[in-house]
Amino acid sequence: MTDELRNVIGGTQDLFYRRSSSVPLPMMARADGIWFWDEEGKAYIDASSGPMVSAVGHCNPRVIDAMVRQARTLDYAFTLVARNRANQQYANRLATLAGPGFERVSLCSGGSEAIDNALKFVRQYCLATGQSTRHRVISLDPSYHGATIASLAAGGNISLHPFFDRFAVAAETIPAPLSYRVPDGLTVDEYAASCASALEAKIVELGPNNVLAFVLEPVGGVSTGAVVPPPSYFRTVREICTRYGVFLIFDEVLCGAGRTGRFVTAHHWPDALPDVIVQAKGIGAGHAPLGAMWVSAAKADELAATAGFDFTYSYNANPIACAVGLAVLDEFERLDLCANATERGAQLRAGLERIKAQYPIVGDVRGKGLLLAVELIADPDTKAWLPQAFEATKRLRVHGLSNGIMLYARASAGIRFGQWFMLAPPLTITEAEIDEVLARTELSLRALSVEAHNAGLLP
Ligand code: PMP
Repeated sequence: MTDELRNVIGGTQDLFYRRSSSVPLPMMARADGIWFWDEEGKAYIDASSGPMVSAVGHCNPRVIDAMVRQARTLDYAFTLVARNRANQQYANRLATLAGPGFERVSLCSGGSEAIDNALKFVRQYCLATGQSTRHRVISLDPSYHGATIASLAAGGNISLHPFFDRFAVAAETIPAPLSYRVPDGLTVDEYAASCASALEAKIVELGPNNVLAFVLEPVGGVSTGAVVPPPSYFRTVREICTRYGVFLIFDEVLCGAGRTGRFVTAHHWPDALPDVIVQAKGIGAGHAPLGAMWVSAAKADELAATAGFDFTYSYNANPIACAVGLAVLDEFERLDLCANATERGAQLRAGLERIKAQYPIVGDVRGKGLLLAVELIADPDTKAWLPQAFEATKRLRVHGLSNGIMLYARASAGIRFGQWFMLAPPLTITEAEIDEVLARTELSLRALSVEAHNAGLLP
């Protein structure tokens, strides 16, 4: 970042973040489809849809038209005192997509708010039904569920424990069913089974009547690097939650909205549906801030008839956001984006597997549909990590920028679990554009490999 920006009053959002001089932040001037152009006119592929947001491509003309039409007709109507038709139509479309058990949809402005809503809803439901002792949240280590204080506390990230100390109650965690490094002597499925049984042990340890909810991403996002647990994992955790009256909440903020090939990720495992589903990111697709929480009509109506769930945000079910959401759903239908996620995802994955075979710095390629992660390592035999001081993910981002590709790479959870980057381009991506993503990713990985060799880090 240039000093010029530090010296102005106000400045850009990143001036609040930890200073990093190593990865420049281009000033973006415009975007279209999978492409960004910065103010110098340099083009970049958005290989991760930002943080897995831009599902229907940047500056989608049909979504923009719908947004403008709505903005000119009815911009705002506060949901505590009025209704708006866009809200009704959008909730109807979302509930229809999710199917039985998810007939009610509460809308807000993003993933963290929607996770907060889910936790508030289940807590309020328990209070209203004589289960007031249920308050503990269980999540995975590692996991991330948002940035409000409650959603941050719901995530499993031990490095934040000093922040929460005497301030907020951090979730209890159980191991995430990671698939690349599993304990010696266990297969991936056996390890996932042991992670699922850890849920029961944790519920028993906390006292079943004290446990409110188990929150997890059905397909992992940034914190696990797109881990996909086996189907048996979902069946087991569903059974355990049912047995102990614990709400099962699927955080589909990142993996939802078609990215894995189904609009609702939970539909991959129809015999293990959760009680609550949360989506955000892809449903507003970068054009409007949107988050959604689905619950059953039975529970929502039961609560509405008693205590009510009337925690509102001023921007709940905003008509412009709902009009955007509807137009995004129209784009999903018109372009069959779930099918495209599966097909282009397979193409991208095959290309990444080819790259992995040539570059020992690539240890693992995983994920589902167009939600893929590539794990970086020092040694394919031992799966050893690259040292933190080498800052592999930052270096990769820098190489990406010089090759005209924005790569989403972060050393999450203090590299307690590994380092990876995400490949999750807009779901509108074409076959030729996937080839371009692969070519630029390979160039960036080649440059990183050379640096790692020169630093004596690769065998
Ligand atoms: N849950 C998951 C799994 C996420 O990845 C994110 C965002 N990275 C959130 C919740 C929070 O969403 P938002 O940033 O829209 O508040």
